[in-house]
Amino acid sequence: MIDWMFTNIGSEPMIKMEIIEDSIDKRIQMSMKNFTALGLMILFILYSLSSSSEILASTLFSFMDKKTSKQSELVGRPEVHKITNDVYAITDLFHSRGKKAGVNAGIILTEKSIIFIDAGMNIASGEFLWRAAAKRAKRKEKLYLILTHHHSDHVFGMRVFKDRGAKVIAHIGVEEELKDDNGFYKKFIIEMDGLSPEEGDRIYGDVLLTAPDQLIENDTVLNIDGDEIQLLFTPGHVDDEIVVYHPKSRTLFGGDAIYEGMPPNTRFGAQKEWQLWISHLERLKKLEIDLIVPGHGKLNPKELLDRNISYLKSLF
Ligand SMILES: [Zn+2]
Repeated sequence: MIDWMFTNIGSEPMIKMEIIEDSIDKRIQMSMKNFTALGLMILFILYSLSSSSEILASTLFSFMDKKTSKQSELVGRPEVHKITNDVYAITDLFHSRGKKAGVNAGIILTEKSIIFIDAGMNIASGEFLWRAAAKRAKRKEKLYLILTHHHSDHVFGMRVFKDRGAKVIAHIGVEEELKDDNGFYKKFIIEMDGLSPEEGDRIYGDVLLTAPDQLIENDTVLNIDGDEIQLLFTPGHVDDEIVVYHPKSRTLFGGDAIYEGMPPNTRFGAQKEWQLWISHLERLKKLEIDLIVPGHGKLNPKELLDRNISYLKSLF
């Protein structure tokens, strides 16, 4: 058994991206306690008067925040990584299994639209993703949410995007899992966590799972405002797994086809599925990739594919 993935826990990421401070909303919230009413009034007046209020607020609050804020347990300890001006990875969002399991998501901004890749494991995570994108987006005419597969840690935040009119895109297998849910999946997870319904509501929020709006069956290329987004069918972890490849930024959003910091989760299949998984990872190696955003763990260069393949091969 190769245990290389465990050796990375706690180490520096192999690729250091620019990490952007948390959303301004949160900074306002966290900084409130530290200021007098007078200070806040002055800030508010400056903030209201400024034509570029976000920049001013950002400057003021980063000056005063001094990293005193502690992330809410409900969103984990997410970090926003700027890959390009239009492409972001959010790592370490809340996961019920604790901080080592933190789940990742992605944001691609196009000329008129925002594309989200996965929704986090609770409503608070979805809201975090929404704010991270909304403050940076040029325009928000259309919203898309691509789900890499049906698992709770990637879909429980979907309501945040649906309520704002997002079109949800996923593999056809996701429809079977999420349609007619009626609260079942959340209840299942809460029971698995050993929580009371009240605790479950506090942690997960008002989860609402629905069938996706657009289903894909095989590899599919989307063109959104001239931006090419490739949805590549990569079953193995589960049979409705897709990865999202953005050729312009040479970024691969791997969902749970690709792991870092922990072994790939193979418990939903057996040898046949793992073999299929390996063949799809081999296929992804042909892409021009500068950066992989795995479903869990740190951002890594293309070599992460080989490490996942080696692990899966060691199971035979
Ligand atoms: Zn996952």
